Amino acid sequence: MKSTILFIGGGYTTLFAYKQICNSSSLVKKIKKGELELIIICDRKHHYFHGFTGDVIGGAMPEQAVYTPLKTIVPFAQLIQGRVTVVSPYLNTLKYTTKTGLSKELKYDHLVIGAGTVDNEKTAKDFAHSTFSIKKPKGLYIFRKQLDSLLLTYKDQQTLPDRKEKEHIVLSGAGFTSIEIATNMHDYMAEKYGDLVHITIVNSGDQLLKEWQQQPRLIKYAEKMLDKKGIRVLHNCTITATTAEGVKLSDGSFLKTQLVVNATGQIPVVLQGLKHLCLNKENKIETTDYLNALGHNNIWCGGDIALVKKPFGKGKCPPNALWAIMQGERIGKNIRRRLAGKVSAKFHFPGLGQAAAFGKGQGALELFGLPVWGWPAYLIRFGFFFYFFPAKLRLIKLCWKSYTESKGWTSLTGSSKNKNFAPEYRTLIGQHLTKEQTILETA
Ligand SMILES: Cc1cc2nc3c(=O)[nH]c(=O)nc-3n(C[C@H](O)[C@H](O)[C@H](O)COP(=O)(O)OP(=O)(O)OC[C@H]3O[C@@H](n4cnc5c(N)ncnc54)[C@H](O)[C@@H]3O)c2cc1C
Repeated sequence: MKSTILFIGGGYTTLFAYKQICNSSSLVKKIKKGELELIIICDRKHHYFHGFTGDVIGGAMPEQAVYTPLKTIVPFAQLIQGRVTVVSPYLNTLKYTTKTGLSKELKYDHLVIGAGTVDNEKTAKDFAHSTFSIKKPKGLYIFRKQLDSLLLTYKDQQTLPDRKEKEHIVLSGAGFTSIEIATNMHDYMAEKYGDLVHITIVNSGDQLLKEWQQQPRLIKYAEKMLDKKGIRVLHNCTITATTAEGVKLSDGSFLKTQLVVNATGQIPVVLQGLKHLCLNKENKIETTDYLNALGHNNIWCGGDIALVKKPFGKGKCPPNALWAIMQGERIGKNIRRRLAGKVSAKFHFPGLGQAAAFGKGQGALELFGLPVWGWPAYLIRFGFFFYFFPAKLRLIKLCWKSYTESKGWTSLTGSSKNKNFAPEYRTLIGQHLTKEQTILETA
């Protein structure tokens, strides 16, 4: 009898659960013999490594570092591009919609739910002009294009005799995402275009980085970085209305802007059929200590969509990549145990901390409760990200390509000034990466 393990999503939870299952040579043999099948249903073709978003915006990393084609990292799974809409936990089936709009159904023996979250757009949907949600498919790509075109317009306007006053780029929200984007965007603009625009963060609360309230030293460091870069933060303030020229704020002021970034947080993906498990105030799927959805011992859930009790200490696991990775690993190991006739083991992870980068060398990191900042934090953070990156060789190639291009040594796409590279190697990397860019542009 063939067993089927279905995975929803191509994020961290899925990848690390998949990896644990495929670490077992006996399960890989079963997959090859057709006795076990792994199916990943994801609404995108790529795995997104969101951690590098700020670095990409700042120009420290090439854009392709954020997305890796899923088919290159899950060789033993069948990939289906589609959006899961309904799960029927008592029939062990799910429904999904294909890219072409067809509705299909699949049966599973084990289901891994790693559908994560989406940007909370409630506050942004009425904006009259460009509002960006970086987490959306192609969000980062479109944002960078729009940013460049806007800055070029501002640059052209600078030469006009009746020069207008500087406009703003507005970010709503004052969490990690917002501050990383703001600070890195500042560095990118300063290096490439000069001082053409104000960056303003609108914060409905009265503090930055709510997640770091136990780390006053790191908040102080973030404030220092914002101050140094001339980024203004408006606390206790929200966007109340928008016009074609800009945004009105709750304090009565008006900011002229053509670009608003929505970084007000995320909400879990909704899967019909499992709503009875999401009656908590976060609207997430509640799990047991073994990472099963409550009452369903063949449905596993981890990452941002899951509400998991902290194994040590009080409260729930925070929604970040490290917890998603660790929960994914536990899910994979538990499925392996169950397939071998053993009982599941509890999720045991004490947590490590959280990191951010506000520009090159300007890292901030909490490691086992200890605050670290500056270059040491930046390098430790990069080391961690590299360790967990799903396609390390590809990342090295991408960084190398970006570095050589920045030095003007070679474009690596064929017409090279550098004779040290074998032409066939150059063309190979070039073709591979150019193809990926084309896929993203047309996806
Ligand atoms: C801009 C940004 C920067 C971040 N930086 C950091 C950082 O520096 N450090 C850190 O620890 N965390 C960071 N995070 C948070 C981190 O990315 C998340 O915690 C992590 O991605 C959660 O993993 P996950 O597996 O739950 O979901 P995700 O990685 O979000 O994966 C969800 C997957 O499910 C797919 N999906 C969604 N709905 C459906 C559906 N209905 N059907 C099929 N597929 C579906 C999605 O396309 C995606 O592939 C950042 C997040 C963002 C947005």
